[in-house]
Amino acid sequence: MRRKLAAGNWKMNGKLADLAVLERIGATLPDPGCDMLVCLPATLIQPAAGLCESTALRIGAQDCHTAREGAHTGDIAAAQLADAGASAVILGHSERRADHNETSATVRAKAEAAQAAGLSLIICVGETLTERDAGTTLDVIGKQLNASVPDSADAASLVIAYEPVWAIGSGRVATATQIGEVHEFLRARLIARFGAQDADGIRLLYGGSVKPDNAAEIFAIKDVDGALVGGASLTADDFCPIVTALAAS
Ligand code: PEP
Repeated sequence: MRRKLAAGNWKMNGKLADLAVLERIGATLPDPGCDMLVCLPATLIQPAAGLCESTALRIGAQDCHTAREGAHTGDIAAAQLADAGASAVILGHSERRADHNETSATVRAKAEAAQAAGLSLIICVGETLTERDAGTTLDVIGKQLNASVPDSADAASLVIAYEPVWAIGSGRVATATQIGEVHEFLRARLIARFGAQDADGIRLLYGGSVKPDNAAEIFAIKDVDGALVGGASLTADDFCPIVTALAAS
């Protein structure tokens, strides 16, 4: 049985005063019945990790560098994130692939660096609307998965997030059929690569405009083990019902 995971992504939002949201999530859901993580801007990781230490809420990061340390002005190393209290890192989010020209090879190198620092990996894959309309969704996702995930990945520390680019921040959710098809494809690809036993433990998240009012429907889809949540992770009022719906699914 895979333990379900509700992961928030605050993106470039949040200041110290907003950490009260995390306190509220932790206090509202002392025993949520699934894993609960919020990936924060680097500036908030250390104070958030301290604040949430005695709660069920874990703290993650949104990116790391490929190198262990060194002359990379403005970047942050996986070991620094772990040192600040992060337990996981999102890698290959479509906003980073688009804004920073991140290739899947870069994502893989970052994943290896994050693994070496003891961080869990949330590796994102997803097609653009143009790719979906062209009928190349599975081809695109298969290539991203293959090239982004390191051979050394293991079920305990690897999570894949399927995030159709056109569904992120748009209010437009993929249909149950679309999500089910991609998740089934991802599971089959992971089994082919890592073997049934290991691949069976790798969690598959859906991400893209998940909200309290559509969460239960999404979590009922086969092979959806949780969600990567952007906008709706910014308030406890939105995030807590999503976590509760996941635990109940
Ligand atoms: C995301 O940031 O990964 C995301 C899915 O955002 P949203 O939930 O706002 O669509």
